[in-house]
Formats: sequence, C-alpha cells, structure tokens
Amino acid sequence: MNANFLQTPIDYLKGVGPNRATLLKKELGVHTFQDLLNLFPNRYLDRTQYYKISQLQQTNAEVQIVGKITHIKTVEQKRGKRLVATFRDETGQMELVWFRGVKWIRENLKINVPYVIFGKTNFFNGSFSMPHPEMELLEIHEKSIRSAMQPVYPSTEKLSNSGITNKVINGLMQQLFLESKNAFFETLSTPLLEQLKLVSKKDALLNVHFPKSQAHLARAQYRLKFEELFYIQLQLVRKNLVHKSKIKGYTFDRIGENFTTFFNEHLPFDLTNAQKRVIKEIRNDLGSNAQMNRLLQGDVGSGKTIVALMSMLIALDNGFQACLMAPTEILSVQHHQGLVEICKELNTSIELLTGSTKTSKRREIHEKLENGEIDILIGTHALLEDKVKFKNLGLAIVDEQHRFGVEQRSKLWHKNEYPPHILVMTATPIPRTLAMSVYGDLDISIIDELPPGRKDIKTVHRFDANRLKVFHFIREEISKGRQVYIVYPLIQESESMDYKDLMDGYESISREFPPNGPGPNYQISIVHGQMKPADKDYEMNRFVKGETQIMVATTVIEVGVNVPNASVMIIESAERFGLSQLHQLRGRVGRGAEQSYCILMTGHKLSADAKTRLETMVRTSDGFEIAEVDLKLRGPGDMMGTQQSGVLNLRIADIVKDSEILKIARSYALQTLKADPNLASDENRPIKSTYAQLVKYRNIWNYIS
Ligand code: ADP
Ligand code: MG
Repeated sequence: MNANFLQTPIDYLKGVGPNRATLLKKELGVHTFQDLLNLFPNRYLDRTQYYKISQLQQTNAEVQIVGKITHIKTVEQKRGKRLVATFRDETGQMELVWFRGVKWIRENLKINVPYVIFGKTNFFNGSFSMPHPEMELLEIHEKSIRSAMQPVYPSTEKLSNSGITNKVINGLMQQLFLESKNAFFETLSTPLLEQLKLVSKKDALLNVHFPKSQAHLARAQYRLKFEELFYIQLQLVRKNLVHKSKIKGYTFDRIGENFTTFFNEHLPFDLTNAQKRVIKEIRNDLGSNAQMNRLLQGDVGSGKTIVALMSMLIALDNGFQACLMAPTEILSVQHHQGLVEICKELNTSIELLTGSTKTSKRREIHEKLENGEIDILIGTHALLEDKVKFKNLGLAIVDEQHRFGVEQRSKLWHKNEYPPHILVMTATPIPRTLAMSVYGDLDISIIDELPPGRKDIKTVHRFDANRLKVFHFIREEISKGRQVYIVYPLIQESESMDYKDLMDGYESISREFPPNGPGPNYQISIVHGQMKPADKDYEMNRFVKGETQIMVATTVIEVGVNVPNASVMIIESAERFGLSQLHQLRGRVGRGAEQSYCILMTGHKLSADAKTRLETMVRTSDGFEIAEVDLKLRGPGDMMGTQQSGVLNLRIADIVKDSEILKIARSYALQTLKADPNLASDENRPIKSTYAQLVKYRNIWNYIS
C-alpha cells in the first residue's frame, strides 16, 4: 500500500460527498483515509449469537433473531401512526414496532423473506415486541464482512441527525477496505511481532473494524494499543536521547572538598537507601557531558532537600554556582535557614533573594553573584529576573515544580552560556505509567522510602455532628504543647462562598478557643488567599514561631511549610478536596517527634467517589498508592500537570487500563533505540518509515511536538 494513498482526503472516498466530508472533518476529525482507518469503535455489539423467539427473556439486552414478516398493519394513535409488523420464526411470533418513518418503512418491508433483526425487546401483555429494530435481509447479512461483532463508532448528534449513522460509517469503512484491498503496510519490526506474538497490522485493522470473533478482536486491539503506545514512547525516548547528544552540558567530573567533607563530617543523619540511590543517579548525570534534565519525585518528608544540597555541593566542587528556587517566600526562607545551618562548617556562601529583599541587599547580591562570591542562591521566582546574573551557574534546582510554569523554568536555561543542569523536585507523586507518558522525555528519580523512625500519621474520618469531640481533642493536644492546622476548601468558582465558610469557621473557632477566657488562652492565626502577601507571611510566621496554637487557613499552606511542632491537621469539608491535595495537606504534620493526627471532617451526604477518597486516606499514607487511586478516579486528563499534554489523546489505548501494555511498550522502545539509535538496521525498517510518516503527516498515531 502506497503511504500516500492513506493521506488521500476523505472527500475522495466513494460514498462521501461534500456534505459528508465536511461533517466527518468537523465532527470526528476525519480528514484523510488514514484518519478514517484510525477511527476505532467505542464498543461492539455481539452479533455472533442468534436467539429463537421462544428463548427470549425479559431482560432488555440486545438480541438478534432470524425470521420473516408475515403481516403489517398501521395503527392510528392519538398522535400520529404506529407501524406494527408480525415477525415469526419456527418457535413463535413477536411484533416489530415503528413510531417514525412509518410510510417509508412500510413501503420497503418485504413480506415472507428472511430477515435478521437486532435490537432490544420489550415484554408486554404476554408477548415480546422490538421497537425500531435494525434489520437486514438474511441474504445480504450473510455476505457482508461485518457479520459477527458489530462495531459501534463514535458519533455526535449532528452526525446522526444528518443521516451519518453507524451503518453509514461502517459502509464507508468497507469501502475503504475495498479500495485499499486491505494491503496495509506492516508498521512494526518482525522481531517485535514475534517476541510479543502480535498479529500483523493487516490482521489487526481488519479485525478491529470487522471482527470475526471476540478472540480475533482481542488480539487486534492488543496489537493496536501496543503500537500506539510504542510510537509515543519511541518519540519520547528519542527526544530524550537527542537532547542528550545535542545539548552540551557542563561536566562535573570532580567529587571534591565540599561534597566529601560534608558527607564524611557534617551529614546530620544516615541517608536512606533511596536517597543514596538518587544522589548516585544525579552524580552520574552531572558527570556526563550531557545536560541533566531530571525530575525527582519523593513524598512529603522523604528528604529531598538534602539531595538538593549534596547535588549543589558537587557543582561547587567543580567551580560552578548553584541555585534553588522555591514557590513561596516562606519556603525560600526555610530552605535558606536550614541550608545555612547545615553548611555552617563548610566554607560556602549561601544567600537568599526574594520579592521582599531590600534594594541595597539586592544590589549587593547581584554584584556578588556576578563576581562569584556567592556559591548558592536560594529564593523565589525573583531568581528568574534578567538582572540576576551568575558568574557561572552550573545547577538549578526547582522545588515543588507544579507551581512553576514551563516558561519560567526555561528562563533558567539561559542563565549561563550553556544551559545549567536542571533538577526539578516534586512531592506530588505521579503514577509511573502517567509519568512515563507525560514526563517521558525527562529522566526520573524516585525516593520511595521515608527516613527511619517516622511515626505514621493517624488519620480518621469524622462527621460534622461529632465536632464537639473534635474540639475536645484539639484542646487536649494544645495542652500538651502541640499546634493545630484547620483547613478550609477553596474552590475558585465559588470563591466568595468559600471565603464565607472560612470566616464562619474562624468565628466559631475563636469562640471555642478564646484569647482571654477563664480557662487556657489561645492565639489563632488566619491565612487565606485574599490577604496581602506581607500579612500572610506575618501570620504564618507567628505560627512558625509558636506564638499561635491554631492556624486557620485555606489551602495556601499546602506547599512545603515545615512546622515540626504542628501535630494535628483538621480538614473541613474534606469531601471537596481531591486526593492529592488531601495527601499534600496531611504532609504538613508528622514532621516532629510526636504522634500526629489528620482528621477529615465531612457531612453525612457523600458521593461514592468522595467515600473512596476518604477511605483511601484513612487506609494508606503511601503517596504513590494514593496517586494510583487518584488516577483511577479522575482519569489522566485531570491530573496535575497533564492538562496540556497531547500525549494523552489516545486513539485506542487507555493509560489507566492499559498500563501493563504501556510498560512493555516503553521498555521495547528503549531497547529498540538503545540497540539502533537511528533505526538504521534492516529489521527496523518498518519502524523507521512509520516514524518518518508520523513526523511528516502527524495523523498516523499521536504526534508529540
Ligand atoms: P521533603 O522531601 O518533603 O522536602 P525534607 O527534605 O524537608 O523533605 O525532609 C524532611 C525532614 O526529614 C527534615 O527535617 C530532614 O532533616 C529529615 N530527613 C531527611 N532525610 C533524613 C534521613 N535520611 N534520616 C533522618 N532524617 C532525615
Ligand atoms: Mg521539601
């Protein structure tokens, strides 16, 4: 089959006039023969079974029956007419009924000729009837290639109103197969087909559109899903490899004074095995001559900061500067304080630059950065400003990456002659399968182990009706010297209502925990999105310093803040939060030595999904497990950071259901490109030409730009 044939505009297919062409393009995105071929059925009706009228059950499943029409009558009703045909087989009789198109149908029905009818049955007054059956003369039915499983194609209201029914699409598909003589090129290599026992492309296409049996269909779908995912992975892996070979990076081949001294003398704890593994992965990247682009995933509290620091020390040892960018002022300050403290025995200069850095200090920092007196710069996106110039930036680390846009990150690339190495850290675990697709062109490191001695956070679900008991519990914990978060949802569409909820809550908590009552006295902080940043920071700092015992807040506290003495997290209207958000919030506690608690408050009315989310939170604190459940509940489209990703517009595979196939596809894509980076071998010729087609036409499978 000539590849150009498949690029023929759909207008040229017999049976497609200008009207149909316009609709197919607009409604289904079918512009070419190739697009039609890749229009896969949503589901199939099993037409392999035939029923006898005497076997019919009172279910409303679709059934298929062979028989003849013996009698037709038109019945007048209050409004319009109804056409009723008596339909018989050798075991009994039933009625076929039409309410629309009566005249036309009556003229075309044939008496006493065998038909195959298909549809749902109704049971009324002791007999069965079938409204608006699909029917076909038995003689034609037996000849047609779509005899067994009947595909149901995607449709829209416009299409069906314009007469482009499923039958019409099916007919067009038959026409396409007829014109192409089913001579479709193989698109995978022979070794791949053999190793994975895949059916040929021809076979797969034929059976996905005209399945001979369930078994044939299953094999066809498997092959096509594999192919789709394989080509996506091939593109991503290739992008990664090309990037590595093209973008020159600074080679940090020395492990020197800073790293060694720190590692031997100042490391405040033993690294977990996961931390050691990840540091090794990063060291390997930094030591090669390609620019690093690595995503570091690790649950809250898994110890990403120390990994960041040790990576930065490697940069310093090789004569480079490093920077660490965090999404908020508070987080930057905490990072700065923590790193200055931990590095105090080392001879390194660590500075902080945020939006509120005073002008004089700012000038000093700018100068010292340019002449190389500052080794490590920590800060908010103030780091990205053009005025901030480094003498020799070698490594840029971005903490909690989902708060930063892609273009912000890319600014870091231009902070030196060649792009510095980039490490992006996130505490939002992304299920592996999703990460493979969305971040498939990045390298990924995972810290999947918490430092030893962490106590599990006790998580419970309580109904609003039990609020008094919860207040009692809060009082007890505060009397032991602990601090408490109380978090309210903030969902943008109803911001003012959320604000009211928050303020109502704040008031009732102020009444419950008064600043100057007869019993213990309480101080409360409040932080929400409508406050000025300076006020927010002021309130937050009071809580950090322990001047307030309760922090009432919206989700603004979600990211990275560390208050080890806070041991209780209460989440109001917990049913309104997504799983990953609940998990992030819970991660704010459990940072100190004390037993910590998370209390999920809800009303009594809960949707099934909300129940699953709450149960999941109560059952586990494993971020990856939670992310998997989240992916299943919400689907990939809604997950963090995936919205813009065209990678998820799959034609036949499903990232959640087909995760096993995805893993296989990824590993074969890697294997293929490692063995033959340019796909130059004879056996890879089909892959090479399919890849070229993909890039050229972009409609073969999903093209990633
Ligand atoms: P996150 O991954 O959420 O950024 P941090 O780097 O802030 O986590 O680490 C959380 C806490 O755990 C910090 O107080 C840190 O000092 C501590 N920590 C990190 N690694 C270890 C370790 N290997 N052993 C003991 N404590 C550790
Ligand atoms: Mg952190």
